[in-house]
Amino acid sequence: MAWFQRDAHQIETDSAARRVRTEGLWVKCDGCKQIVFKQEIDDNLSVCPKCGHHYKMGARERISNLLEPGYELVDLELRSTDPLEFSDTKSYKSRLQQAQAKTGLNDAIVNATGQLGKHSVVISAMEYSFIGGSMGAVVGETIARAVDRSLAGRKPLIIISASGGARMMEGIASLMQLAKISAALARLSDEKIPYISLLTDPTTGGVTASFAMLGDLNIAEPGALIGFAGPRVIEQTIRQKLPEGFQRSEFLLEHGMLDAVVSRKEMKPWLERALDWMTAN
Ligand SMILES: [Zn+2]
Repeated sequence: MAWFQRDAHQIETDSAARRVRTEGLWVKCDGCKQIVFKQEIDDNLSVCPKCGHHYKMGARERISNLLEPGYELVDLELRSTDPLEFSDTKSYKSRLQQAQAKTGLNDAIVNATGQLGKHSVVISAMEYSFIGGSMGAVVGETIARAVDRSLAGRKPLIIISASGGARMMEGIASLMQLAKISAALARLSDEKIPYISLLTDPTTGGVTASFAMLGDLNIAEPGALIGFAGPRVIEQTIRQKLPEGFQRSEFLLEHGMLDAVVSRKEMKPWLERALDWMTAN
């Protein structure tokens, strides 16, 4: 005979319902390791209110933070054809399907046209949560279309990078995007239309090696990882310990690889001022 008896169903066992109310209200900040109310981070453009750590942000959120209401998302219809029918631990097709379901996007890029203050601009923003923001043929073509829009409307172009680099599942087709976008940007330069490259955490590999470093202004968010090869590969190659803060925005600024490090809160007014003097004629 038990001492206590419990009525059935008194304790809630629906774990999905519990999770919504309890999990994720508080987070331990990646920057300062303090416990922060998640809502405070969300309300602060995904920046820690205590230490200023910049969390990753989706492409659509970035666009909506920069452009005035009434902007338009464009060029969203392209899809990868999986030209190599590539498969590693999973097939590339199923990776694409998963990423598409997760993000609601066809690939790791969103183009937009709209007003940034009084400037009519084209923005191309990469989506890191789509296969690590990797650049395949669709990303390349979509950025090339953003350049075409800039050329056609003589509008300044802003590319927001967040990428692990080329998409190896597309092999050479992915690497060809480096040349394709660089060539398109050269046309923009010939026409003297401003191009600002904004590098966010992380911008690495082939993206750094091409369009992300080709801006008339190359700027970055604080603390962003920016580089070509990873630090471990470099250390093994040159057999030297790398300095503190290597491959972070501030280090790159100090060594002349960037023009400015701009916090997310300051970004919009900063871009407006930059476009003011870049388009003043
Ligand atoms: Zn923090």
